[in-house]
Amino acid sequence: SRQLTLKSRPHGAPSNENFELKTVELPALKDGEVLLRTIYLSLDPYMRGRMSDAKSYADPVNIGDVMVGATVCQIEESKNDKFSKGEWVLAYTGWQDYAITNGEGLMQLGKEPTTPSYALGILGMPGFTAYMGLLDIGAPKEGETVVVAAATGPVGATVGQIAKIKGCKVVGVAGGSEKCAHAVEKLGFDACIDHKADDFAAQLEKACDKGIDVYYENVGGKVFDAVLPLLNTAARVPLCGLVSQYNATSLPEGPDRLGMLMGQLLTKRIKMQGFIIFDDYGHRYDEFAQDMQKWLQDGKIQYREHMVEGIENTVSAFNDMISGKNFGKTVVKINNP
Ligand code: NDP
Repeated sequence: SRQLTLKSRPHGAPSNENFELKTVELPALKDGEVLLRTIYLSLDPYMRGRMSDAKSYADPVNIGDVMVGATVCQIEESKNDKFSKGEWVLAYTGWQDYAITNGEGLMQLGKEPTTPSYALGILGMPGFTAYMGLLDIGAPKEGETVVVAAATGPVGATVGQIAKIKGCKVVGVAGGSEKCAHAVEKLGFDACIDHKADDFAAQLEKACDKGIDVYYENVGGKVFDAVLPLLNTAARVPLCGLVSQYNATSLPEGPDRLGMLMGQLLTKRIKMQGFIIFDDYGHRYDEFAQDMQKWLQDGKIQYREHMVEGIENTVSAFNDMISGKNFGKTVVKINNP
């Protein structure tokens, strides 16, 4: 079996030097255990936090341990009555091509699921994150303006499409004209602004002619700088992620604008609330699953994957995702089904 273990903690963007691709012998299966063959590995921005030992809501991966991550696997061999060979499961076995578990925490996906990898994206953690952050914290009302960045990624694309279902005006922010065209033409956003454009802030202001009622925060940085003056009184800001900062090694240059931010929050009575999806909303998963399955069946939600092949390409695929070279939900195909 091949595994990618954490060899050292990255400073800035991770590189192959921070990981070791090891080949290990798998022990024989004991009673109650199953052997999982990884088909799809999900790559998600939160993994950058696990590579670091800075204090966070979850423990870091220890040096020498296999990098963590959600996977969709097939049962290769089973000594557990609950699972049979060939069956598909959602697991959390990380960056490796085989794993042995006692079956605890596996979610069964059936013998022949049509789109098994969706359990890592639109029908899984990122979709759930979009759904709860937008609906519970953002609480969008019909006719309001919702802005979301990383607009073609699994979270942002879902946020915008749900906001459209709820009757909002949706303005996306994405890197490059191809992604922006996709957000408008395929995802049905009203507009999408390229954050790499020189006049990005002016374009955003023009697109949000009635201000912003909900800003779903995925990225931080200069996108938030452009959004802040456009927020309306009583705006809501679900604080989901700050991907523009995940590789940062120091605070940004420039004057301290924290006082200005707090002044804006106060005078405009803005609600900004962070959340960690399973910690805060784990008990509401079924609500999401029901709605999302229906929306997908009815063709109301479009979903795009960015599929990369081979465990040896995992680190570069991860960096591509953090830096925006992905186009859709990043998934590594580790083995053929
Ligand atoms: P994506 O697949 O959308 O990947 C991240 C995207 O961020 C990139 O593709 C890029 O898109 C954009 N980006 C990167 N750097 C910048 C920058 N400097 N300025 C603007 N945009 C940038 O990721 P996900 O959909 O999986 O995750 C989105 C966010 O949600 C992340 O912040 C993640 O941490 C967070 N999250 C939070 C959870 C929670 O429980 N709170 C759970 C799951 C996700 P582009 O090319 O369009 O700029």
